[in-house]
Amino acid sequence: MKFVYDFTEGNKDLKDLLGGKGANLAEMTNLGLPVPPGFTITTEACKVYLESGEEPAALRDEVSAHLAALEERMGKKLGQADDPLLVSVRSGAKFSMPGMMDTVLNIGLSDKSVQGLAKQAGDDRFAWDSYRRLIQMFGKTVLGVDGELFEDALEAAKAAKKVTVDTELEAADLKKLVTKFKKIVKTEAGRDFPQDPREQMDLAIKAVFDSWNGDRAKLYRRQERIPHDLGTAVNVCSMVFGNLGPDSGTGVAFTRDPASGHQGVYGDYLQNAQGEDVVAGIRNTVPLAELERIDKNSYDQLMQIMETLENHYKDLCDIEFTIERGRLWMLQTRVGKRTAGAAFRIATQLVDQGLIDEAEALTRVNGAQLAQLMFPRFDENAKVEQVGRGIAASPGAAVGKAVFDSYTAVKWSRSGEKVILIRRETNPDDLDGMIAAEGILTSRGGKTSHAAVVARGMGKTCVCGAEELEVDTKRRRMTVPGGRVVEEGDLISIDGSTGKVYLGEVPVVPSPVVEYFEGRMHPGADDADELVEAVHRMMAFADRKRRLRVRANADNAEDALRARRFGAQGIGLCRTEHMFLGDRRELVERLILADTENEREECLKALLPQQKQDFVELFEAMDGLPVTIRLLDPPLHEFLPDITELSVRVALAESRQEPHENDLRLLQAVHRLHEQNPMLGLRGVRLGLVIPGLFTMQVRAIAEAAAERRAAKGDPRAEVMIPLVGTVQELEIVREEADRVIAEVQEATGTELKLAIGTMIELPRAALTAGQIAEAAEFFSFGTNDLTQTVWGFSRDDVEASFFTAYLEKGIFGVSPFETIDKDGVGSLVELAARAGRTTRPDLKLGVCGEHGGDPESVHFFHEVGLDYVSCSPFRIPVARLEAGRAAV
Ligand code: PEP
Ligand code: MG
Repeated sequence: MKFVYDFTEGNKDLKDLLGGKGANLAEMTNLGLPVPPGFTITTEACKVYLESGEEPAALRDEVSAHLAALEERMGKKLGQADDPLLVSVRSGAKFSMPGMMDTVLNIGLSDKSVQGLAKQAGDDRFAWDSYRRLIQMFGKTVLGVDGELFEDALEAAKAAKKVTVDTELEAADLKKLVTKFKKIVKTEAGRDFPQDPREQMDLAIKAVFDSWNGDRAKLYRRQERIPHDLGTAVNVCSMVFGNLGPDSGTGVAFTRDPASGHQGVYGDYLQNAQGEDVVAGIRNTVPLAELERIDKNSYDQLMQIMETLENHYKDLCDIEFTIERGRLWMLQTRVGKRTAGAAFRIATQLVDQGLIDEAEALTRVNGAQLAQLMFPRFDENAKVEQVGRGIAASPGAAVGKAVFDSYTAVKWSRSGEKVILIRRETNPDDLDGMIAAEGILTSRGGKTSHAAVVARGMGKTCVCGAEELEVDTKRRRMTVPGGRVVEEGDLISIDGSTGKVYLGEVPVVPSPVVEYFEGRMHPGADDADELVEAVHRMMAFADRKRRLRVRANADNAEDALRARRFGAQGIGLCRTEHMFLGDRRELVERLILADTENEREECLKALLPQQKQDFVELFEAMDGLPVTIRLLDPPLHEFLPDITELSVRVALAESRQEPHENDLRLLQAVHRLHEQNPMLGLRGVRLGLVIPGLFTMQVRAIAEAAAERRAAKGDPRAEVMIPLVGTVQELEIVREEADRVIAEVQEATGTELKLAIGTMIELPRAALTAGQIAEAAEFFSFGTNDLTQTVWGFSRDDVEASFFTAYLEKGIFGVSPFETIDKDGVGSLVELAARAGRTTRPDLKLGVCGEHGGDPESVHFFHEVGLDYVSCSPFRIPVARLEAGRAAV
């Protein structure tokens, strides 16, 4: 196996092997751009090292050979005393990763070669400054010395000289500093700073390998779901210097604005400086446009290179460059990060420029970005006072009064106040408060903290880990940087899309993207901005491309109409239990308690017209599109009063000797129906089989509603869905009865009703016997909520708030299986059932209506296993449409 690649040997598609940085350096080299020569040690070498604890035997020789070639090319040797070749050693994994060792510059300098460099450069100060930088970076990142010790020594040197900026230190000062730095290394690392240049290089390479398993790097990978076994590449690159005087400098540039996507000159430049000076903010940079005045030649060349790169990568690129004595060098490029809005704009701009086609454009955006654009946001023009910034854990813009405990959050919100729950970190005891709050703010914890996980699950705005905020829950206050104190009741605003925290109330504006989907804003109209136009076009691309249809989970006409505006092609799940609440609850209660058949019949008779009306409205809203109505699913006790409240009522009435006959009957029923594990109890099809007439009434309501709509010249397309089926026998019994009722209604109304009857597949047994079940079902809809619950044995109502944080922290999964489909487990059952079902009945219609139907990654999976549609809440429909389009690319 080959472990080292010269920059001339790689290309941009070798990111797995060469890392992002190495692959792009190779690509630029081969484009003929001015990249300082160098080579890349592959991720394979890193993997061998990580597995065995030793570098692969062949690596040393390969590095020697590539170094020799580099020396030959540069006409000088690494660390050569009179004219040293210097190199940088940089890490570069496939994905850029904070927490990993970044860069050691100036490798090759030693007590001897620093003199040679001084002579060659004609600049003593420069040489000694370079040497002290090497010892500092090497000491910190390779030898593990506390970086502050070097910083302190540097500060002391400046103070002694009474100067404020590094550049005011002279050669003699820096020489002294080098001596001091070497002492620090000796004391802290227990060894001398290595004088042998090859030893420096080898140690730095090893340090890069080791940094792959640093704590922060590991945590980041877990959070971002980056596999732990990729390893990192190492880039060894000959040094060029931006700190050789006013005709040198360093900068960063974007080929277009990463915020708006507009083309232009975007970036920063710092004269007479090295890369890390820009990051450290030691001196102020100037806008890139100024480079034209400072060094027109380099500027013109850079503009040309930027154009080359954009046309080559066909995307926004960001660039790091250095100018050494008027000569431009490219140090890095990559496809640049951008805001969600810019992603949509850039994708359409590139299509207009003819650089990419519609399909490619779809790969440049994603559902998470679209979801982000659909949240209300803070008014950009508002005056704000930002007091902190944490991790953007769950998007949205939330404003409310600061509260510091769950109890107050609940109490205040009940009295109509909007509150933001502020905690150091949250735990399951805070759940009520989190539900009551507009948003959640914590000063500790990352993207997988309890607060973040639970808030995302609830779709609630959350900023976590805002470490500069000192939260004092005992005194119910928070101190912000600068010492200001936020007391309980003070208004604050948090932005879950950026992680920013503001004092006071920041005005919130609706998302223009939602305004567009709602039909209140039109692309091409005067008030439509570029973003809406771009989203509109991308949605059209997705709709043209996708094979999956997208339906909505909706239970009433209002939701159905919104879903239609958002692009729904029908209803995939109407949960009828929601129709049994409100004033109808009493009727349902009576139905459950009915002792005689007559009484039960009466209740069902009273419910029938109401239920029918529900469906008439729904069919009207979704006229011409399929509407899947699921028969009653939840356990009956959910329609009865709470057992504790009722017991108290009965006990009180008894002690006061008041009449309580009814309550007593109710209580007995509640006891009778009480189940230890209602989720696995009398619900779904089991109810239909046990309560005579219930499902019959529902089917009759559906059939009569359809007939009525037909009579009104409507086009109702009803589908009847049976929940929680585990065996085909259950379905057969219900189906037989349903067919009979439908036939009756057809006969009575003289209307031919083509009602499809199908089932949910949401129990493992159903999935495993799907071939049999398909005999009695015209369609399957996968209920992946219950299927996940039953396949994992996780209670869907409890686990996210209880032990999932621990599971996520331990990396058992990177995301809750209730959010993104667990492909290996739940997913393989879906796949198996889909295949078996279609074997029995080739025209079996297949959909999914669990929460996963609106989750981007899951949508791709459902596309791959050949489902016909996904169904999700109305608000997620655009995301599902977009992802279905992306899945088909
Ligand atoms: C499911 O289980 O995935 C489903 C859609 O049904 P419900 O969430 O109503 O149980
Ligand atoms: Mg279910």
